[in-house]
Amino acid sequence: MFSYKKSKFRMDIVYPNKMYGGVYSLGPLIIYNLVNNRKDWFCERVFLDSGKVTAPIAGFSLQYEGDFENALKMKTQGINFAGGPLVEMYYDKIIKYFDFLVLGDVEAVMPLVLEEYEKGVSGFITRIEKIKGVYTGKTVTRARVENLDDFYPIVQPFPEQINTEYVFGKCFMLEIERGCPFDCKFCSLKRFYPEVRYRSLKVIKIIIDEGLKENKVSRVVIYSPSFAHPDRKEILKYLLEKKIRVSVPSIRAELMDKETLILLKKCGLESLTIAPECGQKLRLIIGKKVYDESYLRFVKWCNEVGFQKLKMYFMIGLPGMTKPDMEDMVKFLLAMKKEFKGRIYVSINYFVPKPGSEFENYELEKKKMKAMEKFIEKSLIAFKVKKPSIPVAFREWKFLK
Ligand code: SF4
Repeated sequence: MFSYKKSKFRMDIVYPNKMYGGVYSLGPLIIYNLVNNRKDWFCERVFLDSGKVTAPIAGFSLQYEGDFENALKMKTQGINFAGGPLVEMYYDKIIKYFDFLVLGDVEAVMPLVLEEYEKGVSGFITRIEKIKGVYTGKTVTRARVENLDDFYPIVQPFPEQINTEYVFGKCFMLEIERGCPFDCKFCSLKRFYPEVRYRSLKVIKIIIDEGLKENKVSRVVIYSPSFAHPDRKEILKYLLEKKIRVSVPSIRAELMDKETLILLKKCGLESLTIAPECGQKLRLIIGKKVYDESYLRFVKWCNEVGFQKLKMYFMIGLPGMTKPDMEDMVKFLLAMKKEFKGRIYVSINYFVPKPGSEFENYELEKKKMKAMEKFIEKSLIAFKVKKPSIPVAFREWKFLK
């Protein structure tokens, strides 16, 4: 852990929401490590409910639409900048609230920004405008690290006492890939990471060793948009050797085989998460090219391996979604229920068009959405369902409009 050092320069890195969620955010940890590793600098993480922004330069990690108001209230009198998924999607609207934004890989931007800051605050913004990945309202460029292997935020502190709101407990976050090899039309990830990049297995093993040595944790949480890493089995085998529990993100069912599921189970995983989004016909149209057959085969293996819980994510109100598509989705869910021996948890969300995705100009229609929600309510009585919220969907859709 980095302890307080009297330094010439200070930066705060702000997660504008509660600490129990923010500690799991990788972006702030990357900056926290980058800045503290630099001579003459000291950086602290600040959360909505922990710490205060006091440094003359503060960076805001903007993940969700709902955090934006908090961020504005937490700004410092000095220089404020922001980055994160929300900034990647809405940089043209967000820029007026900050001195500059960071687009792309922050590792490639921050050292150059710090170097310029060290030269003096006067003229700082003009000097950093030329750095790739710095956006001040003029040219959009995205920074890119040549090799993901070159840097990793090994120091990942947690507060001494944590409660059950910290869903992963004290864990080490392991980012194995950036970007995604798939092409779902509703997803905006390609805007910020146009291609998928994998960390090498060799470096991932070193990161695991160093991360577990540096941090007192009981779990490793794998960060990856789709767990598509070609060496995913080797990574799991290495974690198994380390006798540490593992959590994985939502997985693509067609990438799984029985051996991977056995490894996940041995790594202490109890529940799996998949996102079929809707029934097969519409699923293929929206670019999620996974067939029902793959999900049913996956569930069969889950039974054989002994998984008891399966979380499934769906969307309603998708572009072009009709009554037959809704029926198709329900039919698919019932088929999955029939096949799976454990418990299925269903989470339904409204589709919200995101900037940078193929559906960005789609308009939400309240009447249609309400009818779909009613249909779902009636049809999924047999499931434990987390229902969607129209006000939340509209708030997201209308963000900064
Ligand atoms: S929705 Fe998931 S699988 Fe599809 S492109 Fe986005 S990150 Fe990849």
